Amino acid sequence: MTPEINLEAFWNLSYGLYVITSQLDGKFNGQIANTVIQVTAEPPRIAVSISKKNFTHDFISHSGAFAVSVLDESTPMTFIGLFGFKSGRNIDKLSQVSFKKGITGCPLVLENALSVLEAKVIEQVDCGTHTLFIADVVGAEVLSKGHPLTYADYHLVKKGKTPKNAPTYRSPESAIKKERGEKAMTKYKCNVCGYIYEPALGDPDNGIAPGTAFEALPVDWVCPICGASKEDFEPED
Ligand code: FE
Repeated sequence: MTPEINLEAFWNLSYGLYVITSQLDGKFNGQIANTVIQVTAEPPRIAVSISKKNFTHDFISHSGAFAVSVLDESTPMTFIGLFGFKSGRNIDKLSQVSFKKGITGCPLVLENALSVLEAKVIEQVDCGTHTLFIADVVGAEVLSKGHPLTYADYHLVKKGKTPKNAPTYRSPESAIKKERGEKAMTKYKCNVCGYIYEPALGDPDNGIAPGTAFEALPVDWVCPICGASKEDFEPED
């Protein structure tokens, strides 16, 4: 008999939060990931699990290198939103932050980072939805002293939500139910960055006319500040 898998058991696993970047053909991209681990000390070797759907995945897979910025606990949600909730297919994320080019050619994001590491991939393990990139560290630098942001901080303190492509994603059913039960023309707040959608104002910059109820927004509408999706919004009381 197969033992029951209680998914809540996974929630007690602890993680950090990192910006993972790479470069390909002179282009840069980056994303947020919580799945960086050190696998050996000698040689210094790390691994990261990245969704195959993510743009950064292709950059790492083809260039064979990536960089990691370890985020400080004071990192603003707008910064996390830029890397975590927007796709590099649509915007140049690195043009909006300070970085320096590392020896692998990957951009090392300096903003909100306690330390940066860069690594060359030695093995790509196909894990189904994700690839586990195992890599030798070729550069590592401490930028400032502080406390690293943990995945638990991100969820509990900052009320962040997990993007769908993260390995630890869980469906926000309660949020969807809440949304369905709410009356039209309620204001909605972005849980990622705090932006408030006001139906009376709409979102004219993105083609949403004033007077449009949150419920009537297209499913692919995203937070104009951080790029979070509709399901990352909750009604304002
Ligand atoms: Fe937002």
